[in-house]
Amino acid sequence: MYRTIKIKLDKSNELIQTARLWNAACQDVIDYGFAAHDYNKTRLNKATYKDLRQKYSTLPSALLQTARDQASDMLKRLKFEKKPFKHPFGAVRFDVRTMKVFLESGYCKLTTVFGRLRYDFQLAKYYEKYATWKVMNAQLKITKNACYLNVQVDQPDPEIIAGDKRIGVDLGINNIAVCSDNTFWQSGPVKAVKGKYQYLRSKIQSIGTRSAKRKLQTLSGRERRFQKDLNHQIANWIISKPYDVIALEDLTHIRNGKKNKKLGKWSFAELRSIVEYKAAAIGKKVVAIYPRYTSRTCSKCGFQKKENRNGRTFKCKRCGFQINADLNASRNIATFSRADRSRLPVNQPIVAS
Ligand SMILES: [Zn+2]
Repeated sequence: MYRTIKIKLDKSNELIQTARLWNAACQDVIDYGFAAHDYNKTRLNKATYKDLRQKYSTLPSALLQTARDQASDMLKRLKFEKKPFKHPFGAVRFDVRTMKVFLESGYCKLTTVFGRLRYDFQLAKYYEKYATWKVMNAQLKITKNACYLNVQVDQPDPEIIAGDKRIGVDLGINNIAVCSDNTFWQSGPVKAVKGKYQYLRSKIQSIGTRSAKRKLQTLSGRERRFQKDLNHQIANWIISKPYDVIALEDLTHIRNGKKNKKLGKWSFAELRSIVEYKAAAIGKKVVAIYPRYTSRTCSKCGFQKKENRNGRTFKCKRCGFQINADLNASRNIATFSRADRSRLPVNQPIVAS
């Protein structure tokens, strides 16, 4: 299981110089490989190493090798249809030979044209859980004001929990998430915030100047972050429950479905993918079920009729069981996830046993 951690380093002249030479060397290999119609690493090395060693005498040979690897990958990707271009200050690839990153202690050592240099950094709080993972490789990016190290970390997939305690989660617009353990994540407060954004948007839109357009962009970025942050909170809430298997609906019906006036478009696909990777990280399973009849089936007696559901209330026409409609659906999702039929493709006939 891989994750990428973004680390901010102080702007460093040594790193900028290293990036400049590394990218130039990379472009040289590209030029050669493109002309020779060859992206094989060994052959590229044989043909270019000696020259590059002389031309970039300060560039350590381990960096020269990553530059060559990068050139080879770029040539391979474009299949000689177009010549790859490496930006003079493009990202620099570091591997275990050219860097050491100590996430817990907050510093790294990078091979540069001035030797191996140490850089201190502050690991963001939300990355702390990865501090014990194994560092695989990194990419150095130079921007106007800082240098960033995008570090790839890895940890073996945890063993899947063997238990089969299931929780069903109904995602929707009345309540963003309802779990079959009788808990709700209500959309009321969210609607208020989304409503505020909508109001501001329409107000700014009517102005139409260039600065208004910029404001609109800032606003939509803020709204996206708000939504993503909340999806993380909801996902944490779901996966921290004492269950082994999380059952969700296949979301096609929501994607195609109605938009709520106040909630607008909520990114359920994003929520689901966050739930999936967070669950995987702690060995829990996520299953998706086909959502047919989850809202009209009685979670108590199994009787299925469209009229069972009336708005937000579910009342069974057969046994009289009455319950919040979304909660009823979440219980069905948990139940249905045990039956194979729910995971069959849409048009496959259900064979009676
Ligand atoms: Zn019933």
